Amino acid sequence: MARVVVVGSLNVDLHLLLRRHILPGETLIASGGTFSPGGKGANQACAAALAGADVTMCGAVGDDSSAPVATTLLAEAGVDLTHVRRLSGATGLAVVSVDAEGENTVVVVPGANAAVTPELVRGWEPVIGAADVVVLQGEIPATSDLEVVGCRPRRLIVNLAPVIDVAPQLLLAADPLVVNEHEGAAALKQLGGPDVTEPADVVAGLRAAGVASVVMTLGAAGALVASSGGTVSVPSPRVRPVDTVGAGDAFCGALAARVADGDSLEVAAAFAARFAAYTVQFEGAQASYPAPGTALPD
Ligand code: ATP
Repeated sequence: MARVVVVGSLNVDLHLLLRRHILPGETLIASGGTFSPGGKGANQACAAALAGADVTMCGAVGDDSSAPVATTLLAEAGVDLTHVRRLSGATGLAVVSVDAEGENTVVVVPGANAAVTPELVRGWEPVIGAADVVVLQGEIPATSDLEVVGCRPRRLIVNLAPVIDVAPQLLLAADPLVVNEHEGAAALKQLGGPDVTEPADVVAGLRAAGVASVVMTLGAAGALVASSGGTVSVPSPRVRPVDTVGAGDAFCGALAARVADGDSLEVAAAFAARFAAYTVQFEGAQASYPAPGTALPD
């Protein structure tokens, strides 16, 4: 089985269903509210495991009542949680508001994720070094993400989400760098590239700046995949979207599982688009991810 290690965040999501988004100074009555497991790292680990990889999660939760909630679906998906540290203080929290159009806003309180220090990362070096693919995001400190590069992963997938200021070495170590349109433009700026916004221009700019390969997700339009072999467009199946929370993470995790198993980036991205499209038909992040064997949309 292909081995994937995710170094990143674990959160509990407070998922609010609203008729419309709140304005400053307002009080709104939500039509629903639930606590569920989330965090970009944990979402991606969950997706990679459900997509067939042997996954180890490296990160931290607090010692509060949220900690077991943050790890329930990871445990169910078979993710190895031995390297998730339990630190004193609060588990990460994300307040996710979804309006009637399915449009979401997210506020993240880092909690224990902020205490994933470079020293903690160094302790995971043997696990990182043994993985076929290591996956990183932007919800732990940038210095800790950079420390992962020093642990010499065989192949590193970097998802610059949310956008944080990272060292250029981190972006240049990515193969692929996975970004949406906004994150791609920000990454290009961090590499000193031109101020462009068209997806094809941003992807070309990132490659010209020295990034080995780039996958840009484009929502319902699928993804652009760029590597030394050229740039191809990967479509996403047409589905009726209900809630896109965690779709980008589902894409990244599924991509990591397939790349670790030896698929080309294009083939892995085509699978990831189908996997992610499935998830937007249901509410929640990890809760919307398909169990192994589920028929995915074409
Ligand atoms: P988020 O932050 O909400 O997780 P993102 O901006 O990181 O999202 P997107 O590009 O919106 O990521 O979506 C990731 C992938 O999910 C897309 O490449 C696509 O495969 C799938 N997807 C998202 N929205 C839709 C949709 N409406 N219909 C079909 N597939 C979708």
